[in-house]
Amino acid sequence: MTDIPKDHPRYESLITRERIVEGVNIGITSKQGLVAQGRGEAFDYMIGEKTTKSAAIAERAAVANILLADNAIISVNGNTAALVPDLMAALADVTGARLEVNLFHRSDARVHKIIDHLKAHGSGVVLGGKGDKRLDLSHDRAIVDEEGIFSADVVLVPLEDGDRCQKLVEMGKTVITIDLNPLSRTALTANITIVDNVTRALKNMIQFTKDMKTQNRDSLQEIVDSFNNDVTISDALYTMQENLKNKAEEKGLTCV
Ligand code: ATP
Ligand code: MG
Repeated sequence: MTDIPKDHPRYESLITRERIVEGVNIGITSKQGLVAQGRGEAFDYMIGEKTTKSAAIAERAAVANILLADNAIISVNGNTAALVPDLMAALADVTGARLEVNLFHRSDARVHKIIDHLKAHGSGVVLGGKGDKRLDLSHDRAIVDEEGIFSADVVLVPLEDGDRCQKLVEMGKTVITIDLNPLSRTALTANITIVDNVTRALKNMIQFTKDMKTQNRDSLQEIVDSFNNDVTISDALYTMQENLKNKAEEKGLTCV
C-alpha cells in the first residue's frame, strides 16, 4: 500500500482507495469494483462526506429490522470485503446476522478467498461457498446458499446491483442497501436505502445495535413502522442539491 500521511486532508478517502486497489491486487475485488468505488466517491462529495440525519434514521430502521429478523443475512461482495471486512464481521457478531459471499464476477476460488479474508478479519461462519440455490436471474449473482440469502427474511446488500435487489424484493424479503447513489436502481428499489459511505454506515450501525439491543420487540417494530424510504431518498437528493447550490453561491456565481 502507498504510505498516506495521517494529516493529509483527504486521508480517509485515500485510504479507502488504497484498500480497493489492494483488494484487486490480492484477487478479492474485481477491476469493475474500482469503477463502482469511483462512482461512490463522486456521490460522497455531493452528500458532504458525512452521515446525514436521514441516513442515520435509515441506519436505525435497518438495525431494528435486522434485530427483529428470523434469518438476517449480510451479503458481502468484492468491494465490501476489501473495504470493511472487520466492520462486516463486527456487525454480524453484534446483531446475530450471518455473512454470505455473493459475487457478480463469481468463481469458486474468489468466493473462498473472500471467505478466508473475512475469517482473518474476525468473522465466524461465512456462507456463500455452497451456492446450492439460484435466484431467477441470468448472471452469477443468482447463485446463493439455501440456508442463507435464499431463505432469509431480511437481507443487507451494500453496494448491490439493481437486478438482484429487485429480485430479492420480489421474493418478499426486506432488502436494506447502503448506496451513495440515491438514483441507482438498487437505491430506488430497496425497502431501506442508506445513502451513506459503507465505512461510516457500518460503524454507525454497530453502535446503534449496541444502543438498541435491549429494546423490546414492540419498540423496535415502532421504529420499523415509522420509517419511510421515499422521504429518505428525497432527503438525500435535496441535501445534494443544497450542497451544490451552496457551493455555487460561495463562488458568487449565478446561472449563465
Ligand atoms: P444499479 O445496478 O443499482 O443501478 P450501478 O450499476 O451504478 O447501480 P453497481 O456497480 O451495481 O452500481 O453497485 C455499486 C453501487 O455502490 C453504486 O451505486 C455506487 O455509487 C455505490 N458505492 C460505491 N462505493 C461505495 C461506498 N464506499 N459506499 C457506499 N456506496 C458505494
Ligand atoms: Mg448495476
